[in-house]
Amino acid sequence: MASKKKVKKSTQYVYNFGGSKSEGNASMKMLLGGKGANLAEMADLGLPVPPGFTLTTEACDAYYKLGKAKLFAAIKGTVDTALAQMEKDTGKTFGKGPNPLLLSVRSGAAVSMPGMMDTVLNLGLNPQTVQAMIDLTGNERFVMDSYRRFIQMFGDVVLGVPHHDFEAELDAVKKAQKVQLDTDLTVDDLKDVIDRYMTVVKRDTGKGFPMDPMAQLYAGVDAVFGSWNNPRAIKYRQLNDIRGLLGTAVNVQTMVFGNSGLNSATGVAFTRDPSTGDNKYFYGEYLINAQGEDVVAGIRTPQQITLKGSREWAKSQGVSESDRKANFPSLQEAMPKVFKQLDDIRVQLEKHYTDMQDIEFTIEDGTLYMLQTRSGKRTAAAAVKIATDLVKETLISEKEAVMRVDPACLDQLLHPVFVKAAEDKAQKLTVGLPASPGAATGQIVFSAEEAERLAAVTDAPVILCRIETSPEDIGGMAVAKGILTARGGMTSHAAVVARGMGKCCVAGAGDVSMDYKGRKFSVNGVTIKAGDWISLNGSTGAVYKGSVETVDPKLSGPFGLIMKLADKYRTMNVRTNADTPHDTAVAVKFGAEGIGLCRTEHMFFEGDRILSFRKLILVADTVKRLKDTYGAASLDVVEASCKKADKTKATEAGLAAIKQYRQALKELLPLQRKDFAGIFRALKGRPCTVRLLDPPLHEFLPHDAAGQKEMAEAMGVKVGAIKKLVEALHEFNPMLGHRGCRLGMTYPEVTAMQTRALCEAACMVKGSRPEIMVPLVGNVKELVAQKQIIVDTIAEVEVAKKKKLDVMIGTMIEVPRAAVTADEIAEEAEFFSFGTNDLTQMGCGFSRDDAGKFLGDYVKAGVYDYDPFQVLDQKGVGRLVETAVKLGRKTRKNIKLGICGEHGGDPKSIVFCHNVGLNYVSCSPYRVPIARLAAAQAALLAK
Ligand code: PEP
Ligand code: MG
Repeated sequence: MASKKKVKKSTQYVYNFGGSKSEGNASMKMLLGGKGANLAEMADLGLPVPPGFTLTTEACDAYYKLGKAKLFAAIKGTVDTALAQMEKDTGKTFGKGPNPLLLSVRSGAAVSMPGMMDTVLNLGLNPQTVQAMIDLTGNERFVMDSYRRFIQMFGDVVLGVPHHDFEAELDAVKKAQKVQLDTDLTVDDLKDVIDRYMTVVKRDTGKGFPMDPMAQLYAGVDAVFGSWNNPRAIKYRQLNDIRGLLGTAVNVQTMVFGNSGLNSATGVAFTRDPSTGDNKYFYGEYLINAQGEDVVAGIRTPQQITLKGSREWAKSQGVSESDRKANFPSLQEAMPKVFKQLDDIRVQLEKHYTDMQDIEFTIEDGTLYMLQTRSGKRTAAAAVKIATDLVKETLISEKEAVMRVDPACLDQLLHPVFVKAAEDKAQKLTVGLPASPGAATGQIVFSAEEAERLAAVTDAPVILCRIETSPEDIGGMAVAKGILTARGGMTSHAAVVARGMGKCCVAGAGDVSMDYKGRKFSVNGVTIKAGDWISLNGSTGAVYKGSVETVDPKLSGPFGLIMKLADKYRTMNVRTNADTPHDTAVAVKFGAEGIGLCRTEHMFFEGDRILSFRKLILVADTVKRLKDTYGAASLDVVEASCKKADKTKATEAGLAAIKQYRQALKELLPLQRKDFAGIFRALKGRPCTVRLLDPPLHEFLPHDAAGQKEMAEAMGVKVGAIKKLVEALHEFNPMLGHRGCRLGMTYPEVTAMQTRALCEAACMVKGSRPEIMVPLVGNVKELVAQKQIIVDTIAEVEVAKKKKLDVMIGTMIEVPRAAVTADEIAEEAEFFSFGTNDLTQMGCGFSRDDAGKFLGDYVKAGVYDYDPFQVLDQKGVGRLVETAVKLGRKTRKNIKLGICGEHGGDPKSIVFCHNVGLNYVSCSPYRVPIARLAAAQAALLAK
């Protein structure tokens, strides 16, 4: 519904660029979009930019808020003036001969969203301008080719005619003429195509094709603004966390023609290799006698810009030098003068923007035009290499390099690549283009929907196999482990999107023949069916049959350098959440400076030790009741009382229970001690925060019949007894139940056993730095009680081992009551570690286990910006953290403060942690490098 609000008269919605006047510059991305701002900047640099104008993102906002009628009425005068300026600058006339001005109408938001929104090229053609163009150029074929492209693009984007309806007609004419390529169609063939297209438009829309150029222009602008909210653009923004933008700008620009003959071309290029970050040569692709969409559509094989690149491409594709030279020459060979000019521009743009650029250009009859420059999307490996190389080249400072790399993308560099020997042995099916690096092994699917469906119900890795991908496939690409396409170059949709996602991708594997219907593909005589395993090497383009073993990546080189810089500028420490020597060693390799959370319960599950722990649980309640009966806290006292009492069945059973309880603790002690010693060794003198037992006891019991039977046999009791035990331990709200220090309050012997195991391990491994953490404290008295047991146990070990131990004792702050009484708690605690998982659960009142069912809707509705279990809810839970920090420091100035909830590995939450003054964050091993970089960025941002 149109709004009653009016368009503000003072707002400037139209900005000129190129020609005699550029009103914008690169700093105006929010208003002009990236493309518009950079076109103005390039024009100012004196680069050949076809003149045009940008309709601002504020215009897009007005389009949605006020309605297109009001917006278009408001901009009509300025658009007319801007068009008149373009006509003056180009000597062409819009909608008329003898030299018609044709336009491109392109989207361009402040953050680039490649391929997600709409574009119309060759706008302004109709029978009159077509004739004028023929008269002017004498090149009827070129004009007819442009005309049929225009009808197709405008028909698809603006009129909503399905793309394939046009493609079917084009294919029919090609088939009838027995030609393969569009470029092989003659003038008469193209005229036939145009006639058919006109019929398709009439049939599908019920109306004729609009012939008034001004109406075409406004309809084009309407479509581009409208495409801001098409489903794939919305999905792209969701996936890439792009928010807070007004909309897209629209760039209306003088058309230049890469399809006007053999002296014309169009291409896209990166100033450095976007896959590896290498700066060996000018990396890019182009096509002679083509328009922009041909390069990315993957229909013709694009050629390389440089001779060096061309030769490398030929080698990887098994193309002979003579074949390459004759059929796929580089731009350097085909148009040496233009190449030189473009290469100079490459250097100029990199220096100017101090970053790798992604550029689009068109060559019209030997004249070069720049159509776009922007910061190029790159893989994580390239991002790190480029940032560190730019420091070496003195183009940017160390601090800028730290800020240039997205911490989250480092994840891509930490994951395994193929084991060389396993890859050598694997059956190679074919080699495609190495479009996005890394290794992926998985079961194949043939559609994005299938990939999404499978991902929703299983963890099994899938490889998405497509002839070529399109923006509709984005959801499936996001869940796939890797992507294989049969068609398309290094700048095809699949390649660009996969690199952006950090996903392994092999593109343009031309030998692969996809059979969607039969749910299989065949390649060099081998057939692979849906569900079969294949492996992709995105760094070489190799495709293998079956799964191939992988290995951890190298952490040296540019990765090591960026980490070194991060460490130089961060002020927070980074620890890890680990509870095995192996995970600890991995984390240390990734730069962890200690353990921030060792969850000891995981140690109770391994091997036979679960039996020992179950033995304890089986009699724990009996022991507790005996303590209540005799009014004693000490096991020894209770045992002595039992022995003194009448020898009844009950006292016998009581004594047996105490014996079993003691025996279980005795069995567990050495096992825990061994685990701790292993962790201390892996830590090599780094500190280690060990948390006492946390989960409710029922989590250690079997809930299925078979498991209960097995437990009964192992314990020598009847199945009924186990069932009864499981029922007795059942809680309606276990997360708010008998867990954390509440267990330690009931079963202090467990606290003592764990403390003893830790202290004895510390005595065994020189340089150990144990820290004991009490979980789920909500009231300082809980901590007082637990601390007493811990202190007494430490003293006993010290006497027994004749060693002085230095053990810090602290607590988690994960219950809101603890956060708001942190001043009292700090009287007892030497450190706080914020358990923001529970603090979020209890602070927001969301069950950790169930909230997933509706939190997605909450995020969609904007109640929370992000899932609060993933990104800290700074306003609410964050305020609890802030309060506890202030209160804690008020009592104990030097109290050590950290975080060990999942948020400790989330870059946005890490910035918050820095700003509230935490000493460290702790996260899972694979997130340690991410946290190191995010901590450095937080420190630099705060300056
Ligand atoms: C927490 O609650 O944030 C925490 C780290 O503990 P757990 O996730 O083990 O409850
Ligand atoms: Mg917790």
